[in-house]
Amino acid sequence: LNFHSFQLHDDLLAGIEAMNFRKPTPIQQAAIPVILKQHDLIACAQTGTGKTAAYVLPLLDKISHARHDHTSTLVLVPTRELAKQIDDQIAGFAYFVSATSIAIYGGNKGESWDQQKNAITSGADIIIATPGRLIAHMNMGYVKFDKLDYLVLDEADKMLDMGFMPDLLRIVSQLPANRQTLMFSATMPPKIRELARKILKEPTEINL
Ligand code: AMP
Repeated sequence: LNFHSFQLHDDLLAGIEAMNFRKPTPIQQAAIPVILKQHDLIACAQTGTGKTAAYVLPLLDKISHARHDHTSTLVLVPTRELAKQIDDQIAGFAYFVSATSIAIYGGNKGESWDQQKNAITSGADIIIATPGRLIAHMNMGYVKFDKLDYLVLDEADKMLDMGFMPDLLRIVSQLPANRQTLMFSATMPPKIRELARKILKEPTEINL
């Protein structure tokens, strides 16, 4: 099995080659077809398994066919380090596919609130955010997700451990019900199952 098996956009395949990805990892082999088929997904996956590209690649494939007139994708993550990492990986692939992304996180010295606000209101295809900072922007009315198509929760167990459950539920309550939702977690404790029951629709489950 190689990346050509998924029938991804040619430009995206060029990006995959440029990034030196030769063969899909097990989580990518399992998750990419499920995501391309529009199914919700709950996946048990550790860091270092290629879980980021497992959702970034099929989502970029879909976004590359879309009109870039609204934020279609929201990725929620526990930490700014992870937000930056995902943003960097998307930027690498998006050199070949037309898609824009921005990372929104709190507590950073370099990027100011205003810079983040301007970036959000300019309308990126993909927003990667930590829940607390995103709520702040939503409360100010800078960010609207009325046309969101895809929601990803990455390291969901870590977000719950850090006390983000109420923020997560508040954010999700403001998203369109008609969306595809993908949840990645290193562990599957009862709280994660409960969150999955609340926000996923008949998800395909991947346990590697
Ligand atoms: P992640 O588990 O998403 O944090 O990814 C771990 C690292 O593996 C990242 O540096 C990725 O760029 C890299 N990676 C992900 N998928 C592949 C692949 N199919 N081939 C080679 N490297 C990969």
